[in-house]
Amino acid sequence: MQRRQFVQTLGAGSAVAGLGGLAGCASTGGSSAKVVVVGGGYGGATAAKYVRLFSDQGIDVTLVEPNAAFVSCPISNLVIQGSKTIADVTTPYDNLSKRHGVKIVRDMVTSIDAEKRTVKLAAGGELPYDRLILSPGVDFMWDTLPGMGKAEAKEKVLHAWKAGAQTVALRKQLEAMPDGGVYALSIPLAPYRCPPGPYERACMVANYFKKAKPKSKVVIFDANDDITSKKGLFMKAWDEHYKGMIDYRPKHKVIDVDATTNTLKFEFNEDFKAGVANVIPNMRAGDIAVKTGLATANARWCEVDFLTFESKARKNIHVLGDSIQIAAGMPKSGHMANQHGKTCAAAVVSLLQGKEPPQLPIYANTCYSFVTDEDVVHVASVHRYDAEKKTMLPVAGAGGVSSAASELEGRYAHAWARNIWADTLA
Ligand SMILES: Cc1cc2nc3c(=O)[nH]c(=O)nc-3n(C[C@H](O)[C@H](O)[C@H](O)COP(=O)(O)OP(=O)(O)OC[C@H]3O[C@@H](n4cnc5c(N)ncnc54)[C@H](O)[C@@H]3O)c2cc1C
Repeated sequence: MQRRQFVQTLGAGSAVAGLGGLAGCASTGGSSAKVVVVGGGYGGATAAKYVRLFSDQGIDVTLVEPNAAFVSCPISNLVIQGSKTIADVTTPYDNLSKRHGVKIVRDMVTSIDAEKRTVKLAAGGELPYDRLILSPGVDFMWDTLPGMGKAEAKEKVLHAWKAGAQTVALRKQLEAMPDGGVYALSIPLAPYRCPPGPYERACMVANYFKKAKPKSKVVIFDANDDITSKKGLFMKAWDEHYKGMIDYRPKHKVIDVDATTNTLKFEFNEDFKAGVANVIPNMRAGDIAVKTGLATANARWCEVDFLTFESKARKNIHVLGDSIQIAAGMPKSGHMANQHGKTCAAAVVSLLQGKEPPQLPIYANTCYSFVTDEDVVHVASVHRYDAEKKTMLPVAGAGGVSSAASELEGRYAHAWARNIWADTLA
């Protein structure tokens, strides 16, 4: 998307229309301003690309990311179901550097010095910044599951909630499970990454069982009181396509796991031993954000100014994506992280030019979920900045959910993925 189109998306008259080249950047006395982006996922990769686009390549952008390529969580449940491979959901970072001039450093940021405005890299060395954009995603609260503390436990009882090696490993566990076995999926209390994602995963595992292991069962243990997203649509799919195969049990909070026996232990219910246990742990902001003191909401999520995504705890550091303390109705999703990335990029460019950041961010979210190989349902919402309340508010009457699952929405879902991967990385 070109800058002009983005401005139109935000709405005519928005202050973002003032963006231009970076001639005479105030913060660095004429030389290129430096933006360092930590994390090349949906939020960080988008922000890196759009800082370059919105500044007409005037701002120097370095993206630090340990992984060789971007692996998408959206669509990764189809890898577990078997109709996609991990290669199908993987995109190289090359275009960010080749087309947009983003410098890519394959490394981890281990610490941030907010006074000196530098980040330290695991491989050694430092990178200076004028503005830092952090999009480190989520990390898991392993302390809430003592039995999962050891590395062997983590290799055996998988979360597969960061797409990559664990996604492939979970598929292999399901392939190795005998027909008649039980797959148990545990869902943490909200908020967690991708509200409908676990229910989609249950559908995809049941879909695989229906074809390959029809005597097998899926048991969902949900710590929440009820299905947290697209409830009616998921229940309908379970009834129509997986009757007797999916057993949904709400109010089941996992408090520990015995990984040697695949046994889930609950706060109030009987222990449950599974053939394959897939435990999605409680989540919080990515380690680097927590370690830097940015997770000011319950020591869990990072509070930000929604006009700029600047941290409320530290000047010149912007946090976006799953790591933030969300506003009402705002999901932790890839689509949202991508929109945060653009809003933040526009604000960072303005701030580095000594201008007011755009005042009217508005963005949309759509999450598609596969309920069979082809049939898909969606939930959509639109969010607008409220200047008085200083937060993002859902726009009344916009968005909603599918009336029914359909194959047409299946095609939309694949197109959505291709488009957002291109928007983020091409
Ligand atoms: C199974 C599943 C299905 C999903 N389906 C959908 C869907 O259909 N639609 C949708 O919109 N969303 C979906 N999501 C949610 C979506 O994946 C996340 O909301 C999104 O990835 C968040 O983007 P992010 O930039 O915050 O984090 P991420 O995309 O996770 O990126 C974080 C990046 O930061 C890097 N990083 C972390 N720490 C450091 C550090 N110290 N130094 C350098 N790099 C670091 C990581 O390596 C990673 O690449 C799904 C999630 C799952 C698990």
